[in-house]
Amino acid sequence: MRKPFVAGNWKMHGSKASILSLVTGLNAKADQLGDVDVAVCPPAIYIDYTKRALSNDVIALGAQNMAVEPVQGAYTGENSVEMLKDCACDYVILGHSERRAIYGETDAEIAQKVKVALSAKVTPILCVGETLQERESGVMESVIAGQLDAVLDVVGIEAFTDIVIAYEPVWAIGTGVTASPAQAQEVHAFIRGKLAALNSAVADKVIIQYGGSVKPDNAKELFGQADIDGGLIGGASLNADDFIAICKAA
Ligand code: 13P
Repeated sequence: MRKPFVAGNWKMHGSKASILSLVTGLNAKADQLGDVDVAVCPPAIYIDYTKRALSNDVIALGAQNMAVEPVQGAYTGENSVEMLKDCACDYVILGHSERRAIYGETDAEIAQKVKVALSAKVTPILCVGETLQERESGVMESVIAGQLDAVLDVVGIEAFTDIVIAYEPVWAIGTGVTASPAQAQEVHAFIRGKLAALNSAVADKVIIQYGGSVKPDNAKELFGQADIDGGLIGGASLNADDFIAICKAA
């Protein structure tokens, strides 16, 4: 049995005041969470502030990105994996579609970042997903396979026991349009099947989150699908009651 995992991706949202209020809300209900792994991923500048505000040991921390360079040095504006660890991050989101589309991150660069995170024992949350145009033109599976293959080529299948995959259809992110449970399950099964063809024991263990307009009222049905092991939550993770409700649905 895989333990579900729900992570909140706060993206570039928040202030000290709003984060304090959000985390106070999470602290108040953390004891209701039950048998689910939970993390929040604040903007890097607020990771330590969030850590100090969290008064429970149930909610873990993650970052939204990190430098590809493994050691510190002259890389203005970047955060190394060791810095993330030093600030108590257990996870790092890598290859989010916003990083790919807005900042031009390539499959090869993302694969290197996954390797660097793994070597520092920070768990990568590797995001994959297709655009609407890719889905409609019938190349969805080859796009997702390509995103996975780039990482498989660099770290190998066994490393996937230490990687979380987040399937996030780009057309469902921040749009209010969720993939239907059947649509999401179909892709999750494709991803797990692809890994199973290389190593079925690894494929059985790997956590595959769904992300894209998950809300309290659709989470239960999505998370009830056989290959959906929790979610990566954007907008709804900025509201403590909504985020806790989503975690409880996992
Ligand atoms: P929304 O939940 O706001 O659609 O965002 C999903 C996402 O991109 C999480 O990484």
